[in-house]
Amino acid sequence: MREVDRLRRFLFENEPLRGHWVRLEESWAAARVHQSHPPAVTRLLGEAMAATSLLAAALKFRGTLTLQVTGGGSLALLIAQVTHEQHLRAVAQLRDESNPPAEEDFRALVGEGRLVVTIDRGDGSPPYQGIVPLTGSTLAQCLERYFEDSEQLPTRIVLAADENRAAGLLLQKLPTPAAAGEAAEGHVRDLWDEASLLLATVRPRELLDAEIEPLLQQVFGAFDLRLFEPAIVRFQCRCDEERVASLLQSLGEAEVRSVLQEQGLVTVTCEFCQRPYRFDAIDVEQLFAAAPSPDSPGSLN
Ligand SMILES: [Zn+2]
Repeated sequence: MREVDRLRRFLFENEPLRGHWVRLEESWAAARVHQSHPPAVTRLLGEAMAATSLLAAALKFRGTLTLQVTGGGSLALLIAQVTHEQHLRAVAQLRDESNPPAEEDFRALVGEGRLVVTIDRGDGSPPYQGIVPLTGSTLAQCLERYFEDSEQLPTRIVLAADENRAAGLLLQKLPTPAAAGEAAEGHVRDLWDEASLLLATVRPRELLDAEIEPLLQQVFGAFDLRLFEPAIVRFQCRCDEERVASLLQSLGEAEVRSVLQEQGLVTVTCEFCQRPYRFDAIDVEQLFAAAPSPDSPGSLN
């Protein structure tokens, strides 16, 4: 069966190695509807979206996980976000849209900077944040560094994307129980080294085109693997009227009123899905009638 917009987990039978595979097609198309980028940026955006899905699968959490790349390269913004239900969205912006980068290089696109992973449980508790410097020469390498530093989990990742699909394969070595002994430890280390080398043989084209079963057979055919049932991955934006209203409230009454006066309407466009939210004079009245402005009397507490 042809599987797209699916996430699948697999493990090495009786060994502390596990993996996740994802391939996006409709969700990737939906995320790109309002975004037109040079090929190198499209590829990186797709890789980030597939990677975010894999991160969510590998790190158990409830809420939202946001992957953000911030650097001094030609890319001003790269954000991909996923919920624990595998609802994805992603956006990229160039620093200078009129002068797109000619180079394909990841380093030139991102420059010196950081990769930030934020997990927000949405229950009012402070978000978890893991930050690593962008030292790798690919997004996959930067994410491997993230897992190594922040999760203490040796991880290998391959990612690929083009205009039609985005895909990724992640492999992780889980901790070996201390009681297992030196010989078992050595065996797992050798297995991990071998599996890592095999994973590195997967070419981007294969990752985008191959179905999961033949792909695993091709790469890890020598091992006994167990493949779990697929989970569905979809594009879904999290924006809504309420969020935009609270964004405007946080901007402050004076700021919002001045935009209203200038333009007759306050329009906020979601950067992920391009949905426009419009607030007219009456909406703005209601916005600030409900929330007292910080400088009004009686708002000391
Ligand atoms: Zn949206």
